[in-house]
Amino acid sequence: MEFSITGEDKIFLDSVKAFVEREIAPRWVDIDEGRWAIEDVAAALGKAGLIGIPLSSRYGGQDGAFLQAALAVEELAYADPSLATPVYVLLETAWPFVVQRYGRDEVKEEVLPEVAKGRAFVGIASTEPQGGSDVASFQTKAVREGGVWRLYGEKNMVTGVATALNLPYGGGAVAIVRTGRPEDKHRGISLFLALLKRRGIKREGFTYRDWGEIGRHGLPTGYLTFNGLEVEEQFLLGELNGGFKIAMEGFDLARTMIGAAAVGATRWLLDRGLEWIRQRTVFGRPIASYQAISFKFAELYARLEAARLAVYKAAWIADRFFRGDTAFTIKDVATAGATAKLLAVPLAVETALEVMKWFGGAAYFKETNVARVLLGALSYYVGAEGAENIMKLIIARNIVGKDYV
Ligand SMILES: Cc1cc2nc3c(=O)[nH]c(=O)nc-3n(C[C@H](O)[C@H](O)[C@H](O)COP(=O)(O)OP(=O)(O)OC[C@H]3O[C@@H](n4cnc5c(N)ncnc54)[C@H](O)[C@@H]3O)c2cc1C
Repeated sequence: MEFSITGEDKIFLDSVKAFVEREIAPRWVDIDEGRWAIEDVAAALGKAGLIGIPLSSRYGGQDGAFLQAALAVEELAYADPSLATPVYVLLETAWPFVVQRYGRDEVKEEVLPEVAKGRAFVGIASTEPQGGSDVASFQTKAVREGGVWRLYGEKNMVTGVATALNLPYGGGAVAIVRTGRPEDKHRGISLFLALLKRRGIKREGFTYRDWGEIGRHGLPTGYLTFNGLEVEEQFLLGELNGGFKIAMEGFDLARTMIGAAAVGATRWLLDRGLEWIRQRTVFGRPIASYQAISFKFAELYARLEAARLAVYKAAWIADRFFRGDTAFTIKDVATAGATAKLLAVPLAVETALEVMKWFGGAAYFKETNVARVLLGALSYYVGAEGAENIMKLIIARNIVGKDYV
């Protein structure tokens, strides 16, 4: 067992740190204020090799490990703790990987190099207005009409549609749709790569409107309605009606990376908090000398260590499983990903609230920047890529057993 980052991983991490300190850290508040959009930094992220780290070099990726992707997402979150930039990168770690694993060659050759260069975005269109947790009951459907598939239905809270429409190639999302009967539940679900803009041209057959988010600005999320979007046969991912399991693989990977983002944001909060409590003097002493403050710091620090190890382990398991190590199953990947998200996301939220108290009244003002981190982390706290109870459900089902849970 090895607890230090060495060799190639260390060289990679140092280069990521240098890049984010130079390109992202000076801009994160501008991104959060809407003065910069993710599409303004996407090309630089691509050039630095941070998009699609686990993608094959055949498609412009880095042939990298999920562990490296987790390290990169953590550093991106340290540089942009409002989380817009790391979320862009983490989504591009998970969902294009699903396209690589299950897509047809011609689709991969066309789309993935554009993703890796930061010229296209591939997100996930899963959640529906009636709920996001129960994927097997989704109603959005794909219908075969005249030799092509057409998508009909509504997807709520889809991140990155506006971003894709602003990028030079475009992109869209991996769409979870029904191709079987409703009573077939998860056995009637298929996945399509639904491109909303392709080769620079916006497509017909959908409408989209942004929601007004409370945080994580720079990477908008909104309401996507499919009213006949045409999807050619080659954009089917995997087998017809075999999409449910594939979608779960994408969520497992995304959750591991979300854990990494939450760890990076928590590190930022604790570092800024530590500087503050050491220098803020009240009643003639630095507030760090009061155990009400320093013990809370110790507690959050210990939880950060645990969450960080859980994230690295989840990425490490994903690397083993997806590279064919039969000692690990997809259940291991799912349990580890859910654990990473379950530990790391509430920690980021609770750390933000605690650090805000250390800053006192100053925390209430945008200029202190801590509240931006709280609002960014809340996106995952309330549910993005799976609500907290669903993480518990996954772990309980996998460990306690489906017969009980
Ligand atoms: C900022 C942001 C970005 C997002 N981006 C995307 C995106 O790109 N693509 C996408 O498809 N979706 C996205 N989402 C949506 C997200 O995936 C959903 O919010 C999430 O899956 C939960 O679905 P829901 O909000 O409909 O809650 P529901 O499914 O309605 O659940 C409501 C509550 O009930 C609880 N609950 C449900 N079932 C159970 C159970 N069996 N046991 C106990 N409790 C249960 C849940 O934990 C939750 O607290 C995003 C959300 C946010 C906030």
